[in-house]
Amino acid sequence: MNRDPSHDSRITDHEFRTFAATQRAMTPPLHIAPLKSWLPFDSRPLVVSGPCSAESEKQVRATAAELVKIPEVKVFRAGIWKPRTRPSSFEGVGKKGLKWLQKVKQDTGLLLTVEVASPGHVREALEHDIDILWIGARTVVNPFSIQEIGEALQGHDIPLMIKNPLNPDLQTWTGAIERFNQMGLHKLVAVHRGFSFFTRSPYRNAPMWEIPIELMCMYPKMPMLNDPSHICGKRELLLPTAQKAMDLEMTGLMIETHYRPEDALTDKRQQITPERLGKLLKSLVIRKETGSIAFKTKLEGLRSEIDKLDEELIDILARRMSVVEEIGRYKKENRITILQLKRWNKIIRDRIEHGIRLGLNREFVIRLLEAIHDETIQKQVEVMNKKA
Ligand code: PEP
Ligand code: MN
Repeated sequence: MNRDPSHDSRITDHEFRTFAATQRAMTPPLHIAPLKSWLPFDSRPLVVSGPCSAESEKQVRATAAELVKIPEVKVFRAGIWKPRTRPSSFEGVGKKGLKWLQKVKQDTGLLLTVEVASPGHVREALEHDIDILWIGARTVVNPFSIQEIGEALQGHDIPLMIKNPLNPDLQTWTGAIERFNQMGLHKLVAVHRGFSFFTRSPYRNAPMWEIPIELMCMYPKMPMLNDPSHICGKRELLLPTAQKAMDLEMTGLMIETHYRPEDALTDKRQQITPERLGKLLKSLVIRKETGSIAFKTKLEGLRSEIDKLDEELIDILARRMSVVEEIGRYKKENRITILQLKRWNKIIRDRIEHGIRLGLNREFVIRLLEAIHDETIQKQVEVMNKKA
């Protein structure tokens, strides 16, 4: 049984592709500043890491002191205002946490990122030298919030990471991205953190990879980070999810770390120590996007062979159809019917046997012959109906 909920989607692949193609046709172009123009690092994966929530000065500084030793980690994250389902849960330390983060920057030189959900958060973050802001999955669904946050950011072209919405809706995600972009924010990054989905699944949030892939096709210049922490909900699943993101050529990862995960006040099961993050990153296989010269040359050779064969195939079909027309004319002159079942049955039998001998799939040969036969009949009907 396939346990990957990305295969359980309620819409079929075909429906999704059709929908996505329509979306693409309606998508206005975005003006995205290339990552390199505002982030002075060129390594892949780009890693954003730090605790789910800032809890104490000691916790953020101890976690950052370990993270800075990992070369891929360029940005330190911490939730200051936590969107929680129930009011009795820990809702973040608020403004005082921003002061701790400033100390992290002084200690380590790491860039800082926090989640903002209101114009008030934006103002506080800007006053405390936060380098990058992120919009959480609960905020991105609300166009009023996006509008207000965008207005609070007028005149600050600060980098903005936009998480996917909770619900598996590509349009909500692209709508928020477009709205920010039209409001003058160009340093945009998408973050794939999975989707709420009500089927049993090993994930906290189903990855539904087809949605970020579609977004990457729509906006090829927009960097895409993967957040395996919120997708998996538990640390054991992080590695295969991060690996899949890398195999899909995503730009980087956002992974939650805590110097003592077992004491974390939020998202305890998914946080890992910085040491474990270092090991996870070392075990990732980063495949090259384009492959080596030898690989490309061989691939090119094989592709041109396919091109030649396809051309021959079309030539042969065209030649076959002109013979068919000649037969049609001949039948017409001799007043013979078009469809001659006996001959057709023999053709089918002989060709299938021949195809199978050459290793072709029986069903495929039948489908192919039927398509050719339909066209053959059509051609002969045309010939018969042609006025002399
Ligand atoms: C987070 O990153 O801690 C967070 C709250 O994420 P999300 O908005 O993806 O749930
Ligand atoms: Mn979290």
